[in-house]
Amino acid sequence: MNENPVVVLKFGGTSMADADHIRHVARIVAQKKSSGHRVVVVVSARARQTDGFIEEARSFTLHPEPREMDMLLSSGERISAALLSIALDSMGCPARALSGSQAGIITDDNHTNARIIEIRPYRVLQALEEGVTPIVGGFQGVSFKKEITTLGRGGSDVTAVALASALEAETCEIYSDVDGVFTADPRIVENTRRLEELSYQEMQEMGEAGARVLHPGSVEFAKIKNTVIHAKSTMEPDGAGTFIHNLEGRIKPRIVGVAYEEKVALLQVDAENGTEMERLFRLAELFERKGLKTKQISFHPGPMRALSGSLVVPEKENYHIESVLESLRDSFGSVVRILRDYSAVSLIGTGITERYQYLLDSLELLQQRQIPVAGLQTSSFRISFLPPRSRMSEVVQLFHKRFIETDR
Ligand code: ADP
Ligand code: ASP
Ligand code: MG
Repeated sequence: MNENPVVVLKFGGTSMADADHIRHVARIVAQKKSSGHRVVVVVSARARQTDGFIEEARSFTLHPEPREMDMLLSSGERISAALLSIALDSMGCPARALSGSQAGIITDDNHTNARIIEIRPYRVLQALEEGVTPIVGGFQGVSFKKEITTLGRGGSDVTAVALASALEAETCEIYSDVDGVFTADPRIVENTRRLEELSYQEMQEMGEAGARVLHPGSVEFAKIKNTVIHAKSTMEPDGAGTFIHNLEGRIKPRIVGVAYEEKVALLQVDAENGTEMERLFRLAELFERKGLKTKQISFHPGPMRALSGSLVVPEKENYHIESVLESLRDSFGSVVRILRDYSAVSLIGTGITERYQYLLDSLELLQQRQIPVAGLQTSSFRISFLPPRSRMSEVVQLFHKRFIETDR
């Protein structure tokens, strides 16, 4: 039996963009194998292919059936897996492309946002046993009803880390177009720093708050067996990258980064006296039926026992947002106000709300610049604000300057 350590390598869309990129990825894989590892590869669809598929489907209807969307979207990752496998074979490195279903990724039946509930990686193990490199299409699985499912935007990261955990891999290396996780998105902020390491929870919160570099759902799987995630750059595979591992209980309160979600829809709900619970129930039922992915839900009793509250809906993760909002308007009329020109900007770090100063300083900065916010939410790892979309970059840069660049 081959006792070499297992390592899972995941390559994102920009890494698989065209034949030259795929050749480059194939060389990284072959090199890893020759350095004495059993290598399992997970790939994403080529850059912008998933967006293109969604656009094409929406040209027919604003609410395409989620099951059909999964048939469509999952094909992008299969194309990448097959092309990389062919490229590796041509270099004398035997490989075998597997769909999520063939790799044993079993999910629930929540189409377009399914959750992995079990992994039966027999064919992955069989390939490794034969000395063949398995190339798994990320972002997809199969439900108990034998339907193809997808795991939500950015879901190939989830496939990779879940497989790494199931295979008890040494590490899961996530290759993208940046050399790890930075203090903010280097695309919109100058003077960002690469973070050497992050705790699981910090990474999960960064991802939840919109930092695309690693899907927050993947971290849940890392926690199960303490799988080390190493975020790296495809173009500089020898760069230091960022280690995401179990640091829990070993760090003092700090701010590690600023993250943003550019397009959120904010739903503000007023309910009339007496009918509030029923309204809330009907609202939740509608969201469940339409498969709406929401974040940051808050409800509280107002005067006369009426409930008021708000929900933040990330637009990128809801390809059918227009049609859900339309049904909302039909069913709830003026009870629900829909605001679409807002963003979410978050400060992330362990124990962040243990220091009121962070909150006070950020409010002061917003006030000085006269930036209004439609909402504020905290958890013990995050403070999130909802500024107007037109001022999002300004807020991200302002926070980065104040809390990351000048605080050390
Ligand atoms: P892939 O296609 O490889 O999965 P993604 O586009 O999903 O890659 O994620 C990488 C992108 O994440 C980067 O290009 C960068 O613009 C963005 N990003 C957002 N926040 C951060 C951050 N804090 N650190 C690094 N990258 C970030
Ligand atoms: N291709 C999918 C997406 O664009 C999944 C991924 O890239 O991880 O969301
Ligand atoms: Mg990604």
